Amino acid sequence: MSTVLVIGAGGVSSVCVHKMAMNADIFGDIHLASRTKSKCDNIAASVKERTGQDVATYEIDAEEVPAMVNLIRKVGPSLVVNLALPYQDLPIMDACLEAGVDYLDTANYEPKDEAKFEYKWQWAYHDRFKDAGLMALLGSGFDPGVTSVFTMWLKKHKLKSIRQLDILDCNGGDHGQAFATNFNPEINIREVTAPARHWENGEFVETPAMGKKVEFDFEAVGPKNIYMMYHEELESLAKFNPEMERARFWMTFGDEYIKHLTVLQNVGMTRIDPVKYQGKEIIPLQFLAAVLPKPESLGETTKGNTNIGVIATGEALDGSGEKTFYINNICSHEAAYEETGNQAVSYTTGVPAMIGSAMMVTGKWTGDGVFNMEEMDPDPFMDMLNDHGLPWQVKELDGPVGF
Ligand code: NDP
Repeated sequence: MSTVLVIGAGGVSSVCVHKMAMNADIFGDIHLASRTKSKCDNIAASVKERTGQDVATYEIDAEEVPAMVNLIRKVGPSLVVNLALPYQDLPIMDACLEAGVDYLDTANYEPKDEAKFEYKWQWAYHDRFKDAGLMALLGSGFDPGVTSVFTMWLKKHKLKSIRQLDILDCNGGDHGQAFATNFNPEINIREVTAPARHWENGEFVETPAMGKKVEFDFEAVGPKNIYMMYHEELESLAKFNPEMERARFWMTFGDEYIKHLTVLQNVGMTRIDPVKYQGKEIIPLQFLAAVLPKPESLGETTKGNTNIGVIATGEALDGSGEKTFYINNICSHEAAYEETGNQAVSYTTGVPAMIGSAMMVTGKWTGDGVFNMEEMDPDPFMDMLNDHGLPWQVKELDGPVGF
């Protein structure tokens, strides 16, 4: 039984903490801290009602490293699980180093003043974690996270090498709102308005945002438009699978979402530079995020399924020539809400955060330094996905994707 300290109290954190409490044999002592303590208390109350487990709560600004160090020392966890925002990754890693504790997150660091997410800042911590005998695990959500584990499972059990990789992220859920984002609106909009980038012949190729779309028929959802975009796991997948000729990431967006986003972009509401308004400086995107529906409020109304997976083509392990496999998970928004009070986008991220934490605190995944999911044995993680609400399936396709 281990002690864990979770930072952040949004939808992802809520799911992760519920799931940790459902696995009290692994996570015996759960502590939750965030900027707004009342949100921690709400999660703790729901966890108590659903599982009977207690969760201790605290207020913290995770960007205040000395305060974080004090909190870590007070709680004495074996792992800090960062489910706040990407901006807090580096200060939380600094605090973990100073207090001597392992670290896990679900999204790579992003500076506030530039919509640019890259692993380089966190990879630069490798030697410090290594020298301290500590482990940091990066990107243990669904994408990044499960998509990387899916890829490495295919490479361990089906394919000797991967020639082409396509990650397909479909949210077939309908929340009944004209425009809302399923996870933190600021991070979500920064991600989808950035130029698209994919890996091709040893380098990243940049193309205009939302410039390439195709239709794909998703099981349990139906046909949807998918748009090619950049997503952070492409960077680690390319690093750890240098043989890949091409790797791309695709996400579904409805016409209504695209229409609203286009208007918001055209009128300057997605800008991240400060604008003077009535004598005060405001960041338009932060203001927009404040007026949009909170992702955690969408749970009750969201109906339908997510279907996220990976299609990989490469040389078969058994020597039978080139093969293509599709490995994916289908998750119901309604079932996720019934179990944890959160919709499937939070669920599909919070469950892998719990599983990555379990891998670390049970010693199934170990190491000194900063690691990506690709570097770990996929098998125990894949087993836990099946047992903890995100079952996966794998099938062979007739040939490589035709788009
Ligand atoms: P939310 O915005 O719902 O929650 C973020 C939480 O972090 C809030 O409780 C917020 O506090 C808290 N927070 C923000 N700043 C600070 C701070 N300085 N100190 C302490 N707490 C702070 O986000 P989500 O739950 O949707 O997402 C959480 C993380 O998961 C994000 O990093 C997101 O990018 C990542 N993610 C990863 C995915 C994956 O598949 N890998 C998919 C979806 C999300 P307050 O309540 O006061 O605002």
